[in-house]
Amino acid sequence: MKRRIHLWLCVTGVIALLLTAALTLGIYFQSFQNQVFYDLKTDGIILAESYQLVEKPDDLDRFKSSGFRITLISADGRVLYDSSANEDTMDNHSTRPEFTAAIEDGEGTAVRHSDTIHRDVYYYAKLLENGEVLRVARESSSIFAVFFSALPFLLLLAAGILLLCFFLAGVLTKRIVAPIDAMAADMDAIEENTEYEELIPFSRTIHRQNGLIRRQLEDLRQEQEKIQALTSNMSEGFLLLDMEKRILSVNGSAVELMGESGGEYVGQNLLYFSRNQELLICVEQALENENASVEITLGGRRLQIIASLVESEGKKIGLICLILDITEKSELEQMRREFTANVSHELKTPLTSISGFAELIESGMAKPADVRKFASKIHTESARLLTLIGDIIMLSELDEAPKRELEAVDLCPLVQKCTERLQAAAERAEISLSFDGESVPVLADPAQMEDLVMNLCDNAIRYNRKGGSVAVTLKRVQDRAVLTVKDTGIGIPPEHQSRIFERFYRVDKSRSKETGGTGLGLAIVKHIAEQHHAKLTLHSVVDEGTEIKVSFPLCEK
Ligand code: ADP
Repeated sequence: MKRRIHLWLCVTGVIALLLTAALTLGIYFQSFQNQVFYDLKTDGIILAESYQLVEKPDDLDRFKSSGFRITLISADGRVLYDSSANEDTMDNHSTRPEFTAAIEDGEGTAVRHSDTIHRDVYYYAKLLENGEVLRVARESSSIFAVFFSALPFLLLLAAGILLLCFFLAGVLTKRIVAPIDAMAADMDAIEENTEYEELIPFSRTIHRQNGLIRRQLEDLRQEQEKIQALTSNMSEGFLLLDMEKRILSVNGSAVELMGESGGEYVGQNLLYFSRNQELLICVEQALENENASVEITLGGRRLQIIASLVESEGKKIGLICLILDITEKSELEQMRREFTANVSHELKTPLTSISGFAELIESGMAKPADVRKFASKIHTESARLLTLIGDIIMLSELDEAPKRELEAVDLCPLVQKCTERLQAAAERAEISLSFDGESVPVLADPAQMEDLVMNLCDNAIRYNRKGGSVAVTLKRVQDRAVLTVKDTGIGIPPEHQSRIFERFYRVDKSRSKETGGTGLGLAIVKHIAEQHHAKLTLHSVVDEGTEIKVSFPLCEK
């Protein structure tokens, strides 16, 4: 805009300069011509007066040196006298405009340009009383000659004026544009800063739109902050990409789950964030097919990546990637699958024996003496089956059922009752079972607590030796109630210790089955302990014995 104004001001200046020069020259030349004619006419009249007194053409020689040419022409156009040429050789002048004008009106003027001398010749003719015409003529420079003679000076003047024009146009442009610059510099006060009345409607509109844009920007910023707050608190990884795979937003969980280090990823290409092939392929697939999902294992974790295209008004505008940590879920699924397989297998074994013995009896192939023995086997196997089913039901209840309300229970009488109930079994196995405890109130489900104590004590008896012992203690240690079941049994080899709480995991399968074990006892114990926020610790030495401690938070009354 500045350049335009400057240019136009300069152009206007130049045009004004040229016009002024042309007009001035025209006016000057006109007045110059008038002056020449005036002088010529005055001289002509005086000359005519003095000639008429004598009427002798030769007398006109007196005026030869006065700087102009004198010609006397007869009424028919013949030249009677000429001060500068031989009148006998001259043409008839009857057609000359100044002559004809003088014959008609008494006087006439004319200007003719002489190409020979490059000058204009001014003529004045006057009709004398005797019918002759006296003509005086003077040479003068033509307008072009005048112009060309003054040209160097004119050019110098024009250059000076042009420079001045250029400078003044610059100053003027700055002064014109300065208020507009001031308006642009402070959009908030644009209305107050508007100096030009004509710009007030514009500044009002700009001010209004400025406010609107500001409000919209503020809304956008708030929205962005909301999304930022939402995504940064998400445990799922969140990644927003544009169609060129440039990152628009990425949260901390995505960085952490993909095992990347923190950094400024926004605005960068996806490759800058991660070079994981599966992620890159998933994104490519989503760009082609709208949606894609892939499961990957990264850093010991199982991750699910879900990518989907984002569309707005039918136009693809970007891509959202969610990265979910499904380690626990897939482990649980794996466990369930294994559990189902194990359950089927565990159920099949006793049922096969029951079915086999029953078949023998039914077909009459069993000797009468063995029938009783087979019936007893069927009884034992079905009892095992019932125990197994009981344990499975309990585990699935613990898995599925919502947590039951816990109540304040004093563990001491509960544990004592359990040990008393197991006393007979301990005696049968020739093991001494003792209990030493103090009153410890805990928040617990009494039925589940009984299962926990019974399972631990039952194991301590079953995996013991004849003459061995089982010591059950219940103590208050700081703010916790600690139940300890310690036996002098066979112990658990170190490599099995981390796995005995898994479902159906047994160190010695045959011993477990012989003693009526289901392989689920400690899994139930672990589950119940978790639901009671209790800590389980195991200490076992092969051939010396095992000690299992369960520590519950005390119930504050
Ligand atoms: P089970 O019904 O087979 O006893 P558990 O889940 O109760 O199943 O125990 C899992 C395994 O841990 C047992 O098979 C056994 O090998 C081992 N175990 C449990 N308690 C003891 C213990 N007190 N002493 C030695 N081994 C034990």
